[in-house]
Amino acid sequence: MEKIPYYPLRRVSDSFGGEIRQAVERVMDSGWFIRGAECEAFEHAFADFCGARYCVGVGNGLEALALILKGYVAMGRLQLGDAVIVPSNTFIATWLAVTAAGLIPMPAEPDASTCELNLSSVEFAYTHAEYSRLKVGAILAVHLYGRLAQMDRLRMFAENHGILLLEDSAQAHGAMMGESRGLLANRRAGALGNAAGFSFYPGKNLGALGDAGAVVTDDADLAAMVRKLANYGSGKKYVHEIAGENSRLDEIQAAVLSVKLRRLDADNEKRRSLAERYLAEMNNSLVRLPKMAETSRSENVWHIFPVHCAWRNELQEHLKKLGIETIIHYPTPPHLQKAFVLNYGAVGYPIAERLAKEELSLPLHPFMTESEIGRVIDGINSFSPNV
Ligand SMILES: *Cc1c(COP(=O)(O)O)cnc(C)c1O
Repeated sequence: MEKIPYYPLRRVSDSFGGEIRQAVERVMDSGWFIRGAECEAFEHAFADFCGARYCVGVGNGLEALALILKGYVAMGRLQLGDAVIVPSNTFIATWLAVTAAGLIPMPAEPDASTCELNLSSVEFAYTHAEYSRLKVGAILAVHLYGRLAQMDRLRMFAENHGILLLEDSAQAHGAMMGESRGLLANRRAGALGNAAGFSFYPGKNLGALGDAGAVVTDDADLAAMVRKLANYGSGKKYVHEIAGENSRLDEIQAAVLSVKLRRLDADNEKRRSLAERYLAEMNNSLVRLPKMAETSRSENVWHIFPVHCAWRNELQEHLKKLGIETIIHYPTPPHLQKAFVLNYGAVGYPIAERLAKEELSLPLHPFMTESEIGRVIDGINSFSPNV
């Protein structure tokens, strides 16, 4: 029985025919590998795609998020020691970006059924920070699993409190707000708050052949500051105004990303129709399926198809026996990791903790065959725990 891989990276690259290889060769032949025409071209294309003014290519997604926060600190919009509201259920990079910038993660619990931040828990986190004598400077929303966070509501909250609204868009390349979202209607991830960080890690919906990331924003001052910080704190060669770092999108990755960006919308559409088929045909009362996007199917690009099950480990074992590879996103929430448990472990975030025990991600990508799709659906429907 043939294995069904979670995400077959080789099949992804091959699906572009020779185009990716040609892009890599073009850069090799140019003899120019860092800060050149390929990076600039991708930055323009990706800013256009997102509907934002600026895109700055950087080394990876974590650095993109950290550079946004460090940029606002350098600009005086955030002060060292300010709190940043983050989801309690996210990949740890969201939190690490906050601490890397000298700021303090202030967790807010998600809605248990959508896995998204909800407004009342953001309000709670804000008040909790005030009681702890912390000033909240920003919300760092995560479009977890490819589904846009409730940016219209969060934006209202951020504006009312005079704080920044930032996007961790590492899982949501191309997701677009629905028609009914007022000011944010038809705007994409990357153009929904003050600034957004993207990752182009190979497994993301838009993935490079290695590490890569980008900061996307309409804020000209922030874009310039991020560019400077990411280039040793230098705007002009050998003149260093601030103590910066090195975080760059190289020419080979930029050339590859330019090729893949052209097919992103079509690939996301395939993910959507596949997710809709899963939702229509999976029917096991022990397995909770993810919620559709709230107002429009464009709001979810299905980076991940998460199911929740009280017998998660048994379900994973059952699927493994059928040759179906699955992944858990994520087995331990950030506050229970050793890196953070001293400061956060005592509080407890029960929704994040339960989601971490029950989540399982099924294979879902644009290159799945009919027979693979059928086997995953049958695998879910045939599960029952031996209890
Ligand atoms: C992948 C990811 C990141 C980090 O991106 P890297 O490029 O791996 O550093 C940050 N946040 C979320 C939600 C992610 O999924």
